[in-house]
Amino acid sequence: MRVQIVLVLLIASLLAVNASAQSDLSPTFQPAPRPLPAYVQFNNGLRLDYYFSALMQGGSGLLRISGADIAGAQYTFRGARQPFFTRDGVDWYALVAVDMNARPGSYGLAVQVERASDRLSFTRELRIDAAGFITQNLVLPPDRRRLADARIEAEEFARLAEITAGYTAEPLWDETGFALPSDHALATPFGVFRRMNGERDTRHTGWDQNAPAGAPIHALAAGQVVFAGSLEIRGHAVFIDHGIGIFSGYAHLSDIEVEVGQRIAGGQVIGSSGNTGRSSGAHLHWEIVGRGIWLDGLAFLDLWLPA
Ligand SMILES: [Zn+2]
Repeated sequence: MRVQIVLVLLIASLLAVNASAQSDLSPTFQPAPRPLPAYVQFNNGLRLDYYFSALMQGGSGLLRISGADIAGAQYTFRGARQPFFTRDGVDWYALVAVDMNARPGSYGLAVQVERASDRLSFTRELRIDAAGFITQNLVLPPDRRRLADARIEAEEFARLAEITAGYTAEPLWDETGFALPSDHALATPFGVFRRMNGERDTRHTGWDQNAPAGAPIHALAAGQVVFAGSLEIRGHAVFIDHGIGIFSGYAHLSDIEVEVGQRIAGGQVIGSSGNTGRSSGAHLHWEIVGRGIWLDGLAFLDLWLPA
C-alpha cells in the first residue's frame, strides 16, 4: 500500500514538473538573464563558457569569452573559422552551428583569443548527436511536378548562397530577440527527408506552419531585408539579415510588404502566407541560415542570445 501511495505521489509530482516545464517552453524569446554555462574553461585570466553540453545535427550553441583586454577572438570547428562578436566590448560571443548532414561523433573545437599583449587558445572535443530526422512523402500538384527537379533545387541553393554571402558583422536583433513568425500550428519540422512524388529525396531546410492564405507573417527579429522577390521553389520569399551571419527566410508567400535594404523591427509584418513555389497548399515555410548552414529554427529560438 505504501509503495502504491509513493508511486502515485511520484507520478503526480512528475506530472506537475512536466506541466510547469511545458508552460516554460514558449519558443518566444524573452529578454532574460544570461543562463549558467554547461561547461567552463580558464586560461591566464580568460574564461570560456559553453552554453551547451552537446550539439545536435542542425543545432547551434553559444560560446562566451570574458576577461580583461580582449581585442578579438575566433574559433575553428569542422574546418570553418568564425569570429566572435561583442555588444559591450567586454563579453565576446560566438555561435557554433552544425550542418544537418554532419556525421555524429566527436570534433575538435579550437578558440583563439587576441589580447593587447598576447594570444591564448582553448581546445575541447565537442560531441554532435544524431537528430533522428524522419522521412515524409510529398505529392506535388501536376502543374508543379517540374519543381522536383534536382537542378532547379541546386540553382536555388546557389542563389541563396549568394544572397546570404555578405552580412552585417554586428548583431541587428534587439532586446525583443527572436520569435515565431506566425501563431498558427507548427507542421513539418526541420531536417525531414522528403520523398517527392515517390521519386527523389530532398531535405526540409526549415519549419512549416499551418498559416492559411493571407495570414500576416512577422519578422522573427529585427534586421535588414536582403531579398524580397520570387524564387522557383520558395515562391514569393523574403530573407532578412540579422547580423553575425544569421538570416531568416519566409517562403510561399502570397504577398510581400517589404523591399530590399529596408530595416525591419522584430515582429513587423513582412507579407502574407500563400501557396507560391514548390507547395501543395497554403502554409508558411520559414528557415534560419547561420553562415551558410541551415539550422533547426525552433531550437534556435530557444537559444539565449545577448541583447
Ligand atoms: Zn517547408
